Amino acid sequence: MTGSTVADVAVIGGGFVGLWTALEIKRVLPGSNVVVLERDVCGGGASGRNGGFVMSWWPKIASLLSFCNVEDAVFLAQSSERAIDEIRAFCETHAIDAHFRQSGWLWTATTEAQLDSWRETVEACANVGAQPFTTLTAREVARRTGSSVHRAGVFERSNATVQPAALVKGMRGVALAAGIRIFENTKVRDFSRGRPSTISADGGEVRAAAVVLATNAWAAAIPELSRLIVPVNSSIIVTEPIPERLEQIGWTGGESITDSQLMVNYYRTTRDGRIAFGKGSGAIEYGASIGKRFSYDEESRELTCRDFLRTFPMLKDVRIAHAWAGPIDRTYDSLPVFGTLDGTQNIHYGIGWSGNGVGPSRIGGKILASLALGKKDEWSTCPLVGRATRTFPPEPFRFIGGSLVRRAVLRKEQRENLGLRPRAVDVALARFAPAGLEDKS
Ligand SMILES: Cc1cc2nc3c(=O)[nH]c(=O)nc-3n(C[C@H](O)[C@H](O)[C@H](O)COP(=O)(O)OP(=O)(O)OC[C@H]3O[C@@H](n4cnc5c(N)ncnc54)[C@H](O)[C@@H]3O)c2cc1C
Repeated sequence: MTGSTVADVAVIGGGFVGLWTALEIKRVLPGSNVVVLERDVCGGGASGRNGGFVMSWWPKIASLLSFCNVEDAVFLAQSSERAIDEIRAFCETHAIDAHFRQSGWLWTATTEAQLDSWRETVEACANVGAQPFTTLTAREVARRTGSSVHRAGVFERSNATVQPAALVKGMRGVALAAGIRIFENTKVRDFSRGRPSTISADGGEVRAAAVVLATNAWAAAIPELSRLIVPVNSSIIVTEPIPERLEQIGWTGGESITDSQLMVNYYRTTRDGRIAFGKGSGAIEYGASIGKRFSYDEESRELTCRDFLRTFPMLKDVRIAHAWAGPIDRTYDSLPVFGTLDGTQNIHYGIGWSGNGVGPSRIGGKILASLALGKKDEWSTCPLVGRATRTFPPEPFRFIGGSLVRRAVLRKEQRENLGLRPRAVDVALARFAPAGLEDKS
């Protein structure tokens, strides 16, 4: 940007959360003046580099129930399922080819230790009268995943996959057409805590009545938010196109798959017949900056390749065509947290997607839009807003403790993968790790 401008709402961060928020504000109030400020290009953060799993919050129902009553937990889980349909409808309405495919999700066990990891979640669903998961036989799981390393699993049909960068690009285009001004390559340096807030950014400043912080893991640099999240690495490798090999092994249904490790493996096929295989490697850095390790980390790539070969040993000759990483904004219970910065009434945040933000960011957009517009509705008053969450320790304890616990989890899961009993000290230390993609049992 160059010079100064004014806005009703300034959204900082041009990922899924920021763009859904801006779009929702424009939908509710078409005449509003909305700007998006993005340090990179839209999608340059996690939104353009993720695994493309569009998931619901059903695997987090027990975590939701830990701070919501039954009605609110079911409302949020059902809304997250509806969000998947809304993303499909959005793509159809705006002719966005984001490779949307709704073929469901297989939550599997690939070691004895992982067997039944879903039991508490499935029971919690039953207790609230929902049945999103179907239990499959071991044979069926091995057949559908194309690998007998999968010993058991459940299936959730609502889940979809997208090409995430194509979705962000499409959303950006719709936002521009709706009159939202997007300033890319515009890093926000500071914002004042007043009304209006003055936002100082590269090249200029914005005076905005309301501000939305949608900066994902980068929010760790904001003092009031720094202890709510810890930025952790997630890494992805993508094979060359292998459509015939997928046919051979039998993974042809387009299901997305995860195992039940805390350092979760997540994998899916792409439209051109590749496998995108990711791992929440959990690598962390000292302090709040999102350094190079969050774009590419050799150790994380090696861990991801190792788990890929363990999962699909018959594909050991397949070439890995691409590898990259990105930052995850992990909260303690792996659900996001929304609120308004203390001492302000107009600076709102929505962070902590914890590796499941592609689908739920749609809900985040509704929550943040309602907060920014000062609307009292089912979104701004839902229990994710202003909730008390367990916080991470300050530095240097976060880095030292986090590294110790991460190493213990890696050793524990590595031994389990080899069919060995993990060491007691690693099991004990691993208990201090935050929750993963699914409910922590
Ligand atoms: C490797 C990887 C795989 C993943 N896989 C999945 C998956 O399969 N399914 C799923 O649901 N989720 C997945 N996730 C998580 C998902 O990508 C995120 O939850 C989601 O994209 C969050 O959207 P966001 O808008 O909050 O974040 P982002 O897309 O990161 O947007 C935040 C933006 O803020 C910008 N920003 C930061 N600081 C500033 C500043 N000072 N000034 C201006 N702009 C700033 C950043 O550049 C960034 O573009 C994955 C994440 C990673 C990294």
